[in-house]
This record gives sequence, structure tokens and C-alpha cells, in this order.
Amino acid sequence: MQLAFGELSKDELDNLNRPRSYTDHLVHHDCPRNEYCEYKVSAEKTSDQGCMMENMGCLGTQAHADCNTRLWNGQGSCLRGGYACINCTAPEFEEPNHAFMDTPKIAGIPIGLPTDMPKAWFVALASLSKAATPARLKDNAVADHIVAPPTIYKK
Ligand code: SF4
Repeated sequence: MQLAFGELSKDELDNLNRPRSYTDHLVHHDCPRNEYCEYKVSAEKTSDQGCMMENMGCLGTQAHADCNTRLWNGQGSCLRGGYACINCTAPEFEEPNHAFMDTPKIAGIPIGLPTDMPKAWFVALASLSKAATPARLKDNAVADHIVAPPTIYKK
């Protein structure tokens, strides 16, 4: 549509010549698993609700695309269907040198860190977040439905 309307000038392309209309975003934006990601509480198997970055190969924090903000058919994305992001907008994504659903790590830390985050910050933030994880999120992260609803405080 941008081509048809003459709206795809050089300025509208990123440095890999992809339309910035979708690569100025990250797949991570608006992922429904963001609360789990904030506390680094992770899915361990495909049906779990937790963040899929630590154990299941999700590249949503590095993948430039608007999948979770401009949903397919108004409601779908890979993450919303229970699949980890494989960064399919990036060159050579199809040859990651490991299984798509694995997260390569060194000393327990994922090799691929979130875009724009220095490694030291990630390690510090992850350990703080894990220490502060609410029990509700720990329980829900490894379940296929909500088993612990948010607390309602009485006035
Ligand atoms: S599952 Fe992936 S996209 Fe979703 S919050 Fe975790 S890292 Fe981000």
C-alpha cells in the first residue's frame, strides 16, 4: 500500500531496506507475556504462559516488527498463538545454527540480549527481577491457564 500511494521513499526504509512502518517497532512491544518478562519468569514448555525468552528461543526483544501491535486479522501473532518469535524479518533468520525453540546460553545467560540493553544491565536487572517475582506470576508462568488471579485488596 505504501508503494501504491508513493509513500515508500528511501527515508521510509531502515538500514536493511525494510519498511520502517513496521521495523521501527519490536515484536516484544505489546506481547501479552510482558508481565512475565518484566520479572524474568519463564515458560518451560510450549503450553506455558510465561515469557519464552529464557528457555524457548523467543527473539521478540530483538526482532524488528510490529506483530503484537498490528495484529494479523485483528487478533493474531505468533506469540499469541503460543509460538516463540524467530525474528523472521531479519536476514538469514532461517539458519540460526540451533533449534528455533532453544535459547542458546553461556553460563545460564542467553547469548541474544534485548536490543539496546548492555549485558551487565541485563544480568543485574534479571537477578533483581527474579528476586522480586510475585508468587502469582511464578505459578501462572508454568501453567496453561490462570491458576492464581491478581490479589484484590479490601479497603
Ligand atoms: S515471549 Fe518474547 S516477545 Fe513475549 S514478552 Fe517474552 S521476550 Fe517479549
